[in-house]
Amino acid sequence: MPEQPRSRRQTRAAILTHLLQSGGSFRPPLAKAARLSEASLSRILFDLKAEGLIEEVRRPAPYVGGPTGLVSLDRTVALAALELTERWLSVGVGDLSGELQYSERVPLPKKPTAESVGWVYREALTLLRDWTRRRRIELAQIGVTVPGLGRLSEFGNPIVPCDVKQIGGMFDELFAGVPVTFTNSVVAHATFHRYRTENYPFGDAHLFVFVGQGVAGAWVDDPIEDDALDPIELGHMVFGTDGPLCRCGHHGCVEAYTSLPALAELLGLTEAELLALGNDWMIEIPPSPRVRQELRRRLFRLGLAIGNTLNVKPCRGVAISGWPSLLDEDDRKAVVDGIDACLLGGRKLAQVSLAFVPPSNGNDPQAALAFAAFCLARSGGMPTASTEAA
Ligand SMILES: [Zn+2]
Repeated sequence: MPEQPRSRRQTRAAILTHLLQSGGSFRPPLAKAARLSEASLSRILFDLKAEGLIEEVRRPAPYVGGPTGLVSLDRTVALAALELTERWLSVGVGDLSGELQYSERVPLPKKPTAESVGWVYREALTLLRDWTRRRRIELAQIGVTVPGLGRLSEFGNPIVPCDVKQIGGMFDELFAGVPVTFTNSVVAHATFHRYRTENYPFGDAHLFVFVGQGVAGAWVDDPIEDDALDPIELGHMVFGTDGPLCRCGHHGCVEAYTSLPALAELLGLTEAELLALGNDWMIEIPPSPRVRQELRRRLFRLGLAIGNTLNVKPCRGVAISGWPSLLDEDDRKAVVDGIDACLLGGRKLAQVSLAFVPPSNGNDPQAALAFAAFCLARSGGMPTASTEAA
């Protein structure tokens, strides 16, 4: 199939997203990855350098007669990140490599309302404005992640109440002219894994599943495509109308069985206690055989939900992140079995490969920072609208 002509923005985006993922590249492999001749690459790199988006340092090449300039993203580009969690709003400033220069957590009230969460945003944005102003830092992009953001938002956020439209107005007021992009937390976590994890298992289109406060997914595709990152609500497939009540109002959703709050309840802990135990909860409180069996039953349902999703939209790769990734292979097998049982033709015939990647919750605002870097790279460093949704 002949290749579609790319716009200038898309070509720049191909270069910048490759640099984001690789952390730096010599010219020949960069030209190959961006599908450009070395002469065209040279012209674009000249512009990107002049705009302060990339830098090139002389470094011995790993092959004989090779070039000596290593191209990477400019470390002086400043990005801001705001990540909303159940307990606080994390705010930070960092660079394109993921290094944070500043971060702060503004706690949420015990029983948050859209109004009180709005005040928390105002406080965080004021801190951010003061910090950047004192240092005369100009932000190139702001990434904002909100759990549960998406189709349900017009009826109120199901995880943390907040009025995204009103919050967007605060950015216009305090950071006029700086591009701001809101996204669902799962999209930010998908970005974080893809661009910050060394040896991330998938380079092309795949499904990313995140099991945390909720159960959600994102289709991940070529970064220069419009639908490069699409969140999906796979957590609300119902597996028995007599099951536990889900926050969406239905009974028996896969999320009501497998989210972190559901896991805490099964273990007889509060959610805070479970989070405090960290990644070692299985060692600290070994589950009884009965609990373990129930755990596997629930993981099997998670597998069914993922398999169903793949039946609707086939895809060759699935990355699973969240608490199931921390289990040993025996327990994780229940997820794999669920996918196999549900996927029409089975996993082998469908040629689906699976990978478990470690959970990335608790490191806020790193996911929002990775998302901000992705937005800047994907825009080719040529932002248009000041506020947009991803
Ligand atoms: Zn539900």
